Amino acid sequence: MKAVVFHGNGDLRLEDVPKSKIQRQDDALVRVTTSTICGSDIHIKNHGTEMGVLPGTIIGHEFVGVIEEVGESIIGYSPGDRVAVSCVFNCGQCFYCQKGIYSQCLHGAVFGGRCADGLPHGCQSELVRVPFAPRIMQKIPNGLTDEDVLFVGDILSTGYFGAEQGEIKLGDTVVIIGTGPVGMCTAIGARLFGAAQIIMLDSDANRLQVAQAKGLADGTINIQTDNPLSIILDATAGRGADVVIDAVGSRQSFEDSFNYVRPGGTVSLLGVYTAESNFAINKYWRKNLTIRMGLVEVKNMGALINLIEIGKIDTHFLITHTFNFDQVMEAYRLFENRLDNVLKVVLKM
Ligand SMILES: [Zn+2]
Ligand SMILES: [Zn+2]
Repeated sequence: MKAVVFHGNGDLRLEDVPKSKIQRQDDALVRVTTSTICGSDIHIKNHGTEMGVLPGTIIGHEFVGVIEEVGESIIGYSPGDRVAVSCVFNCGQCFYCQKGIYSQCLHGAVFGGRCADGLPHGCQSELVRVPFAPRIMQKIPNGLTDEDVLFVGDILSTGYFGAEQGEIKLGDTVVIIGTGPVGMCTAIGARLFGAAQIIMLDSDANRLQVAQAKGLADGTINIQTDNPLSIILDATAGRGADVVIDAVGSRQSFEDSFNYVRPGGTVSLLGVYTAESNFAINKYWRKNLTIRMGLVEVKNMGALINLIEIGKIDTHFLITHTFNFDQVMEAYRLFENRLDNVLKVVLKM
């Protein structure tokens, strides 16, 4: 089967590999019909070696498909079912799963993240082995297309998680740093929690314009040209935001989050941080803040699909480019270099 394989930093190749197979009785084999390139795939492409990704790993983790085969213990799913699949998997039985902290599952991982120890490969391929399958798949209702639900297993769940972690209360002012696809999905989540005013920050004028035009942001701040702190203080009677969500993950965005939040507010850290910070605890301890951070918990896929089905969530605007899988390397080039105002690229098998 054809797949995108990591061969070392900076070396991704579309090539023929042996077919994925069912290995355990709770596996499903899913034929990928539509997938994406995620920002973290770019990170793996360039820094996979440091992240422990072994050469030979098929990458990719955001996808939907059709069940090809199910392991013998699986009930309720059959070949031919269309499914959305979580980007991460978990066993449901270990210490952390029993506490509902699935992100820390002792037997869990992200698809295509490492592939040591028999972990499954990623979804930028024709077939994917889905472990613990009934726990991490959702059937796609008949009336919905692949594109309707494509993001529920990764960025939409991540955005929702960032908003949930922000403990947003009805009527809150929420600042979201970053208008990438995850930042946009975070705004969708923030609305679901009843945010009254959403202010989004970025340096990309096109993305800010999209956020405003799609009704995700009530106000936007271009960090290149505006003074974010003074605009946020003006919008909040001088207090600062009730909730700040960092959907970027840089040292700067992390530190800014604590300046933008009001005393007693919540900072939700959603970015993938790769640098250390000199956190100015001496400056912020007296603000009585709640700080939440962590890996996404993908546990609301079913609810998100319901909301998509009734038209309360629509993420089609994120799909700016669609490629046939044969053109995946061109899709990487466009996505990585943020050409042509790309938000998300979709790969059709
Ligand atoms: Zn992802
Ligand atoms: Zn577990």
